[in-house]
Amino acid sequence: MNLRNTYLANFINLLFPQLCQACKTTLLGTEHLICTDCLYHLPYTNFYNQPDNIVAKQFWGKVDLQAACALLYFEKGGKVQELMHNFKYNNAPQIGNKLGEITGSLLVQNPIYNTVDAIVPVPLHKKRLRKRGYNQSACFAEGLAKKLQAQVSETNLIRKVNTETQTLKSRFARFENMKEVFAIHKPEQLTGKHILLVDDIVTTGSTLEACAQALLTVPNIKLSIATIAYAV
Ligand SMILES: [Zn+2]
Repeated sequence: MNLRNTYLANFINLLFPQLCQACKTTLLGTEHLICTDCLYHLPYTNFYNQPDNIVAKQFWGKVDLQAACALLYFEKGGKVQELMHNFKYNNAPQIGNKLGEITGSLLVQNPIYNTVDAIVPVPLHKKRLRKRGYNQSACFAEGLAKKLQAQVSETNLIRKVNTETQTLKSRFARFENMKEVFAIHKPEQLTGKHILLVDDIVTTGSTLEACAQALLTVPNIKLSIATIAYAV
């Protein structure tokens, strides 16, 4: 960048300062998206090092997983909520990428997660994808893939039905519907692999459970789950 461009960049930064996506303080030149203080103090779960963590337990007896974890605790009114809101609704896909890299640099140190071959994001229905412009789970997957040296597969798990309007239904009714929502395309591409299924937030786990059931129909597959946040 030449002197004139640097001057211009500084001037633009003065007029439109870059703010931390979690606490809204002005970022320093060396910071990107999340300030150092937030990065240090975000409510990390450490679930990736606890085989019997609460996210993993949600799937016990339902789907056969190698491991499951979430990076952060999601609390109403907290920094993670602000971060996730900006990520999903303020056209900031790079937040997912950054959180993916943070998660990936932790998971790569774990003997189970570091054997992951491919990362599969929970798919959005194509109508919803068009509306938002990006799949937030795929952004998270991209960041993870960089650190885990795995590939991202966005074509093998397909969402057949748009479930956006289902939020008011009971959990049971929702899950009955969910079973029919996902399908596997070209299963031979996943055969024998360790797949990491990823989503942005895990709450009841019904969406992930339905995706896991579809993926577990692939022969000799090993499956783990990771999400950005766990909502209590
Ligand atoms: Zn901050």
